[in-house]
Amino acid sequence: MQQRALVVSIHDVAPATQDRADEILRKIADLGATVSSLLVVPDYHRQGRAMADPAFCAWLRKLEQRGHEIVLHGFFHERARRPNETTRAQLITRFYTADEGEFYDLGYDEARDLIEEAQREFAAQDFRPRGFIAPAWLLGAEAERAAIDAGMTYTTTLRQVRDFVARQEIASQSLVYSIRSSWRRGVSLGWNRWLFSRLTSNALLRLSLHPPDVSHPQIWRQIRGMIERAVRDREPMTYQSWLTRAAFAA
Ligand SMILES: [Zn+2]
Repeated sequence: MQQRALVVSIHDVAPATQDRADEILRKIADLGATVSSLLVVPDYHRQGRAMADPAFCAWLRKLEQRGHEIVLHGFFHERARRPNETTRAQLITRFYTADEGEFYDLGYDEARDLIEEAQREFAAQDFRPRGFIAPAWLLGAEAERAAIDAGMTYTTTLRQVRDFVARQEIASQSLVYSIRSSWRRGVSLGWNRWLFSRLTSNALLRLSLHPPDVSHPQIWRQIRGMIERAVRDREPMTYQSWLTRAAFAA
C-alpha cells in the first residue's frame, strides 16, 4: 500500500506575492509541512516577468534546494472577457474565478506558445518545472494537449492529479479556500471542515493555499489545525515526489 502523503501547494507565487508566500512557508514549516509545490506565475497580472526579478529567483532557488518544487501556473493568470460568451463560460470564468481562468478556453497554439515561452524563461534561470497547473484548475482540452506536447508531465485539477506520463488520473479532491468575500469565507470554512473529515482515508491529502489565506485569522486557524492533524500520519511531499513514488509502487 502506498504511503500516506500530504501535498501542500502554494498558488499564485510571484514577486508581488512573495512576502505573503514566504510567511506561509515559514508558518507551515513550523507545523511540520517542510516541503510544498510552489505554483509560480510567469507574469502575474502582467505586472512583470517573475524570472526578470533576481531577488525572487534567488528566493525560489533556495526553496528548491530545500526540497520545494517549482510548478508552472498559467502565464498571466488572467483571462480577457470575450464577446458572445455563453452563460456557462461567463458563470465559470467570472463568478467562480474572477476572470482568472486563463487556460480555460485557449486554443492549442496560443496555449503552447505561452507554455514554451515560460519554459524558456524558467530554464534561463535553471528552473525546469515539470508540472503545469492552470489558474483555477481550468485547463481546457486543447490547452492540456499543448501542455503535454510541450513536455509537461502532470497537471492537477480540483478533484484529480493527472499524470501525463503514466496516463493515470488519481482521484483526490483538494481543500481550498475562497476568500473574496465574507460569505465565501464562511462557506469555505464549513465546506472544508466537512471535506477534511471525508478525506481521511485518501492516500493523498491535498491542501491548496493562496497568499491572502494567511491574512484571515479564522481561515488560517483552520488551515493550521488541518496541517497539525495531517502530519501526524502523513509525509509532507511535493506533487512531483508523490508521482515518482506512485510510479515506483506500481
Ligand atoms: Zn492561481
